[in-house]
Amino acid sequence: MYIQNLSVLEEVHVCPDCDSQMSCCEVPPVHVGDGLGWGAEVMFICLNDECPTFKGGWQKIEVNYGHKGSFRNMQLPGSKELNVMMVASKDAFTGSIVDPDSMRKQNARYRKEKEATEALDSCLDKNDISPVMTLILDESASPDVRSRAMDLLIKFNDLSCIDPIRNHTFRNTEFEQKCNMLIVELLKINHQKECPFCAELVKAQAKKCMHCQADV
Ligand SMILES: [Zn+2]
Ligand SMILES: [Zn+2]
Repeated sequence: MYIQNLSVLEEVHVCPDCDSQMSCCEVPPVHVGDGLGWGAEVMFICLNDECPTFKGGWQKIEVNYGHKGSFRNMQLPGSKELNVMMVASKDAFTGSIVDPDSMRKQNARYRKEKEATEALDSCLDKNDISPVMTLILDESASPDVRSRAMDLLIKFNDLSCIDPIRNHTFRNTEFEQKCNMLIVELLKINHQKECPFCAELVKAQAKKCMHCQADV
């Protein structure tokens, strides 16, 4: 999940019915067909089980709708207008409470991806390999953009890209294979090979590794 506007995480909403602090939750998915979004990325919900709205809601729903459920008080970011959400169980929304710290981290990652993506078209001219590496090493980045970054890698002809890639754990095996192939190509262009014992680069013609003295 990504929040455009991080300042909502700093908002404090207090339930007017029970005075407890409302929890910041992800908005539930919109039901197919009704076409209405929430117009917000998170909502603040009173998850206090002793809240009168929630405690009294079970009976109201039973009487009015004939099924099991209750209400939780809700406010949208930037608003003190009180709404109610119908909930089928006590645990609805407890699984979607937003943790501000992890949200900030995800946002930082997303922002880095976005910046690197924007820099991708011009980075070769600027001889700046960093956006390419950022994207290749970001498992959460968009696969299309990562693939574009990999296509640029060889053009930089920069052997320093090998170590970070070797040290990275790819979740996407297709990308891992592609990077392995790119490294092989890069080594070939530069007449180098990786020592199978210490992983340092040595000349392609070398018979002994200059780093670990092993026969290569
Ligand atoms: Zn409440
Ligand atoms: Zn070696």
